[in-house]
Amino acid sequence: ASALSEKFRQNPATEEQQKTVAIIGGGLSGLACAKYLSDAGHKPIVYEARNVLGGKVSAWQDEDGDWIETGLHIFFGAYPNMMNLFEELDIEDRLQWKPHRMTFAMADKPGQFTSFEFPPGVPAPLNMAAAILTNTEMLTLTEKIRMVPGLLPMLLEGQSFIDAQDELSVLQFMQKYGMPERINQEIFIAMGKALDFIDPDRLSMSVILTAMNRFINEADGSQTAFLDGNQPDRLCQPIVDHIEKTGGQVQMGKPIASIDLNADNSVKGLLCADGSTITADMYVSAMPVDVVKRLIPSSWSTMPYFRQLDELEGIPVVNIQLWFDRKLKALDGLCFSRSPLLSVYADMSVCCEEYASDKASMLELVFAPCSPVAGSEKNWIAASDEEIIDATVKELARLFPTEIGPGAMDGGAKVTKSTVVRVPRSVYAATPGRGKFRPSQESPIDNFVMAGDFAIQKYLGSMEGAVLSGKLAAEVVCDKAANKATKGVRQVTESIANNEWQERIP
Ligand code: FAD
Repeated sequence: ASALSEKFRQNPATEEQQKTVAIIGGGLSGLACAKYLSDAGHKPIVYEARNVLGGKVSAWQDEDGDWIETGLHIFFGAYPNMMNLFEELDIEDRLQWKPHRMTFAMADKPGQFTSFEFPPGVPAPLNMAAAILTNTEMLTLTEKIRMVPGLLPMLLEGQSFIDAQDELSVLQFMQKYGMPERINQEIFIAMGKALDFIDPDRLSMSVILTAMNRFINEADGSQTAFLDGNQPDRLCQPIVDHIEKTGGQVQMGKPIASIDLNADNSVKGLLCADGSTITADMYVSAMPVDVVKRLIPSSWSTMPYFRQLDELEGIPVVNIQLWFDRKLKALDGLCFSRSPLLSVYADMSVCCEEYASDKASMLELVFAPCSPVAGSEKNWIAASDEEIIDATVKELARLFPTEIGPGAMDGGAKVTKSTVVRVPRSVYAATPGRGKFRPSQESPIDNFVMAGDFAIQKYLGSMEGAVLSGKLAAEVVCDKAANKATKGVRQVTESIANNEWQERIP
């Protein structure tokens, strides 16, 4: 991570090489791209559609001054590019690291939790082995041993094995390697919902393995941190300040309506929703994949590189914040709720400095999966706020049996305020076989580059993935500007390429 950052600073563009670069989207990938382009001596301008920065990490204040977040966001030790960015911006002290443990609610024991404790000072992978072996409440020793045949090839072969498992769902992989169903019930359902907001029957095994591989190989890989406050102020703004100090710009409230092309298919300019036109030397898309698909000009739409995007689609998710009239007995850190409707949650009055309160808890929860799942046709993304909150509070009765719900003493804790933020298309749904459709940052269009967490990089759809993708997009621009060889456009998978060939036959 730091080597790539260094590359931008070490070879700044000469005056002749310097490019103006229009970046569409002010999420983490667009901001990271602009940051590294300005470090490299270029002139990036970020055009963000909304009046708030951050995209999926955006947040805004309500009339009470409370921050409403798009998502509960957790940073992992295994986020090298993100950590590097914090260091470069000199804001590392804004990360509030929690004790190195993974905490799960006990499915059959309301109000009880169990943790995998990673012993400090023990190198990887021994610290993970210790964490797994010392927890006796979730898996039996036999079950732990039966995980080994599936995980050993990952340790031995690394990324190539992980990539090859992308065609299999978690359940198919478990069957192939003879893993007992209880491992799914105890671990993989919770992991799948946390990593990609879907259940293991729909999730590609490569997602679970990618996370496990980082956690196994890096001593602090699975340690979690919370930002000390809202993301736009505490993370996005320092990136913007850096961009502006080094000659770039960030403009908000500037939705791009269409991409205008030259006769040779290169980008001529961007047409804004307000009727203005933007021209630059190079153009970077840092929009979510579902938006990019809508903006692709018709003469690009038959090209295999752009056609493969049809195979990627954002997954719905809902973020909930609940303010209570009192302090709940909550842990300082992230918790896997292991309930059917919820994924992870945290008491932000404990975990995050800006939201701290001694008097009352504020739980932030991720509601997933939201799309209809087997056995239930409920489409939660379309449900009313009341229905979603009601279902959430019912599930909380299991997590806080003596404090919330019918079993609570003195009527229990009351919700004083709640918010529901729907993201109908969030990170790309990593269902089996999607990896091969992820585009490279470099595109076949000479002056058009693709950022965004869905573009290919090894960190899936995540904040780290977004930062790395933005950085790789900046690298493509810099290499082209300096007339250096680039890594090239990633080969489009055969099924897409052949399909186009067949369509061309009259
Ligand atoms: P986005 O953040 O989607 O940014 C795209 C930007 O483009 C947006 O600002 C959008 O407004 C803008 N845009 C769109 N169309 C236009 C247009 N026409 N013109 C101009 N601008 C446009 N990741 C983690 O690592 N850890 C977590 O704990 C975690 N939790 C999450 C919880 C939730 C509920 C959600 C939704 C996501 C979570 N993520 C987490 C994922 C993470 O937020 C994303 O992977 C990352 O922020 C994506 O960044 P991006 O720049 O690729 O896309």
